[in-house]
Amino acid sequence: MHYEDYFESQLAALRADGNYRVFADLERHNGAFPHASNRVGEAVREVTIWCSNDYLGMGQNPKVLEAMHKALDISGAGAGGTRNISGTTHNHVLLEAELADLHGKQDALLFTSGYVSNWAALSTLASKIPDCLVLSDALNHASMIEGIRHSRAQCQVWRHNDVAHLEELLAAQPLDRPKLIAFESVYSMDGDIAPMAEICDLADKYNAMTYLDEVHAVGLYGPRGGGIAEREGLMHRLTLIEGTLGKAFGVVGGYIAGSTAMCDFIRSFASGFIFTTALPPAVAAGAAASIQHLKTSHTERQEHQARVAEVRARLTKAGIPHVENPSHIIPVMVGDPVKCKFISDCLMDEFGIYIQPINYPTVPKGTERLRITPSPVHSPEDVDRLVEALGNLWTRCQLSRVQMAAQ
Ligand SMILES: *Cc1c(COP(=O)(O)O)cnc(C)c1O
Repeated sequence: MHYEDYFESQLAALRADGNYRVFADLERHNGAFPHASNRVGEAVREVTIWCSNDYLGMGQNPKVLEAMHKALDISGAGAGGTRNISGTTHNHVLLEAELADLHGKQDALLFTSGYVSNWAALSTLASKIPDCLVLSDALNHASMIEGIRHSRAQCQVWRHNDVAHLEELLAAQPLDRPKLIAFESVYSMDGDIAPMAEICDLADKYNAMTYLDEVHAVGLYGPRGGGIAEREGLMHRLTLIEGTLGKAFGVVGGYIAGSTAMCDFIRSFASGFIFTTALPPAVAAGAAASIQHLKTSHTERQEHQARVAEVRARLTKAGIPHVENPSHIIPVMVGDPVKCKFISDCLMDEFGIYIQPINYPTVPKGTERLRITPSPVHSPEDVDRLVEALGNLWTRCQLSRVQMAAQ
């Protein structure tokens, strides 16, 4: 085989389908986010980011930055080792206590990212519990799917958010067979929310463990930012809650929270926890400050919801089709990979608006979309410019407008 030719031919196929990924080179402006500089070759232009998962702007929160500066001055740059070999700093210990408290659990365990936490926790539980059956929601995140696959445990996929289908699968199993139901709270591409109480009821009835990914909900929902499970009063019913420190908390890292024995089990058996350098102490300090802040401050969450409602209403008024859902994610449906990329390019080139096109394989073919994530740091002028630009491009691309019920 001619390896280089093979790589090129595969990339050419992606390009032809409109699915080739191009990353925007951004320099976020601390204190002025969502505004950033975008570099294209020698040129630099100012853009407004409308697709960030820094949902609340916590990545520039002064308390977070101060905690990070302070820890950097005290402890230096890196942790210097795996958690087992000299990498457990006091900042890690404090952060894990903060996370256990956030989710009302006995304990928590940190990972280098949300992806790694899902991959490591699911693969460890499913592979180390004898004869474990994993019941996985059809739209679970790639990190969950990869973790389950790696475990080599039997896996059955239930139709997305379909508890009747989940029950059918559970009922067909012996009651004493170990089972793990894996699902998310807020699904990040459609913005819909799992029927969590019903899933917990089924878990009780059929003696299953529950594994909940709250990545797109922590910091954003619940009186202390504990996620949808906190908002619904269900945290105590979930076996394991997984989250990220990289989205609403504005830093980086992932974690699980659960019982002391389960966290200790994963700590002791998960390769993805054991054999990798711990997060830098300054990162742990920043994340802890962010969580602490959002446990008591409600303004960010309230303003976030208000801004989301405002953008939705404006899009509805302009006839731009978007998916109604009970969360903060606004999927604007284009339904064609080439047009989706074209609109995204025009938004950036002509209007200084950055919204990454979401194409296959992140979403199914034919459901290509622009995923808009308003935040408290988007100004009314930012909103005006967004709606105006989308309206302009909708006309130019001859995309149909829709009549949606006013909210
Ligand atoms: C982003 C994401 C993850 C991974 O979290 P990171 O901290 O970004 O690695 C896990 N689950 C879901 C649903 C996600 O969207």
